[in-house]
Amino acid sequence: MNTFMEWRALLHACRTRTAGLLRELDDSIMPLRCVFCGTATEGPERRICSGCRGDLPWMENACARCGAAIAVDLPRGVHCAACQARPPPVLAMVVPLRYEFPVDAGLKALKFGRRLQYAPAFGELLLAEMARLPADIDALLPVPLHWRRQAFRGFNQARELCRPLARHCALPIMTGVSRRRPTPFQSGLAATQRRKNLRRAFLVRKTSGFQHVLIVDDVVTTGETTRQLATALIRGGVKKVSVLAVARAV
Ligand SMILES: [Zn+2]
Ligand SMILES: [Zn+2]
Repeated sequence: MNTFMEWRALLHACRTRTAGLLRELDDSIMPLRCVFCGTATEGPERRICSGCRGDLPWMENACARCGAAIAVDLPRGVHCAACQARPPPVLAMVVPLRYEFPVDAGLKALKFGRRLQYAPAFGELLLAEMARLPADIDALLPVPLHWRRQAFRGFNQARELCRPLARHCALPIMTGVSRRRPTPFQSGLAATQRRKNLRRAFLVRKTSGFQHVLIVDDVVTTGETTRQLATALIRGGVKKVSVLAVARAV
């Protein structure tokens, strides 16, 4: 890493940390407001009001193994045809929303507009979904960004989404996993090209003895990123991998 990039990354990290601390301070003295409509919120809905929550594009029926939308609800333990034909390396996947307005706009504002208030809002939403996942999860893993993209953005949105989960579920955030090379933006690419881009994209240096790791991400498109990361974790010695993400492209 050259010195300029190191300094830029450090500066971004300091700014993000300071913004986080200011936000926490602000939350403690100011009433919270819904990130979508600005209404003051109270009670359990802290950052998304009940009205906006009801209007979100919730996934109706999804395969419990791969998170893909399916036409009818399957009985517990039965998975979609694709999972039956080619079982994925992931034990369970929960993705509560479709990647449609206003979820897509919120996630883009978070990633590209540095609107960091969307991270705890979507994080709270993910927290409510934890009950649908296996109880033996012992660590969280935000999908790592390549260091160059992280330096440019100043933060990893998946890591920001993990914070409320780590705090409320008392789960550690796993380190020791990185992206080997920058992956070109995947949107618009065919599934085979995505697979090629992501092959061996992740490096697992240590697993710290974790047995069941929960991968956390913002958007699942084809599922190839989580599949490659899960495969790398299992090769590294992790026994089970599950996935929790905000939205799925349908
Ligand atoms: Zn609202
Ligand atoms: Zn499936």
